[in-house]
Amino acid sequence: MLSPLGLSPSFGFGDRLGLATPGHIAAVRGTKLAPVFAQQSVRENARTGRSPQQVVDDAKRAVEIAKWDAPWGADADHLKIVDDIPAFVEAGYTFFTVDPGEFVDNAADSDPLNVLKPKITRLKWDELSTLYLNQDQEQPWGRFDAEKLMRATVKYGKAIQHAGMMFNRLSQLKDSFDFEVSVDETDSPTTPLEHFFIANELNRLGVRFTSLAPRFIGRFEKGVDYIGDLEALDDELTKHAAVTRHFGTYKLSLHSGSDKLSVYPLLAKHWGERIHVKTAGTSYLEALRVLAQYEPDLFLKIYTLGRECYEADRRTYHVSARLDMLPWIDDLPSLLNDFHAREVLHVTFGSALAKYGTEIKSSLVNHTDAYHSALEGHFTKHLALLRR
Ligand SMILES: [Zn+2]
Repeated sequence: MLSPLGLSPSFGFGDRLGLATPGHIAAVRGTKLAPVFAQQSVRENARTGRSPQQVVDDAKRAVEIAKWDAPWGADADHLKIVDDIPAFVEAGYTFFTVDPGEFVDNAADSDPLNVLKPKITRLKWDELSTLYLNQDQEQPWGRFDAEKLMRATVKYGKAIQHAGMMFNRLSQLKDSFDFEVSVDETDSPTTPLEHFFIANELNRLGVRFTSLAPRFIGRFEKGVDYIGDLEALDDELTKHAAVTRHFGTYKLSLHSGSDKLSVYPLLAKHWGERIHVKTAGTSYLEALRVLAQYEPDLFLKIYTLGRECYEADRRTYHVSARLDMLPWIDDLPSLLNDFHAREVLHVTFGSALAKYGTEIKSSLVNHTDAYHSALEGHFTKHLALLRR
């Protein structure tokens, strides 16, 4: 049944085409993970032309056919403003991810103190310095001095307020739900000390959040593995895990979780079952892999369009693929293993669906078994790495 998942370990399967849930069910069945079968952001809805209701209805239909009878969730992802909320509440969503990233002041990391100071009121500063500057013990996540506190306050203060406001609005509309705060799409990473600050301030505001998505060091680009120093990430995650353990009330959430296979064992090591992972684009790429094999003409049209639209479509995503690095086309399905091709195809899904959506969906319906077994294999690999 569709319900909040609380602190159960969970996994988000975004499905931009509305055809992937049977493959997701096959992969998640028998694991400890509670699935989120419907997960769509406002940005994705705009690009796929689907409404929150359609997304959840597609998942529901597949759940009924597969006779999935354990709890599952529906995630209203990356909600930015209050007006984004009602459509998802009406459609029965159970998991609400608030993204206050637009209120994060990324310059606070480097701005001189005389620029930062006027951004905090005297009253606020007195309150915060009493709270945070009197701790003489160094914690695993670090310790505040006046400068660090000032930077953290300017960087995240408004975002925390906004998340609180979104929580209050949601509480007026709904009794029980999972609530996530995500700052994963900001420019600068969230330090463990800032993570502590965010969680503590949310608590002080009375925000009951079930998961939190910091922005980690390195690059979590769409549809490809982690780019960065894994050892440095491991050290950093140790400190973040100390913060979540200190509070003990929420899960660590990893966004852009598609294909981050080298990071999954670290999540399992540091958080065990207190995790939530989100994926989306990788299911779309598996659909394209099936098309590359069975409908090469259609696939080539999508690929050509992707190259044309990449520079424009990439603007709202963190990707680094280069058009001049795209491989020669000889073996089409193996194109889906190439870093540059994956990112180009991933971020141009909206353009591809606008132009070829009907053809893509009817081709996948014709190759249903191949699509579902591709998804099952792909996600079985993902989920196995989250086991401790
Ligand atoms: Zn995200």
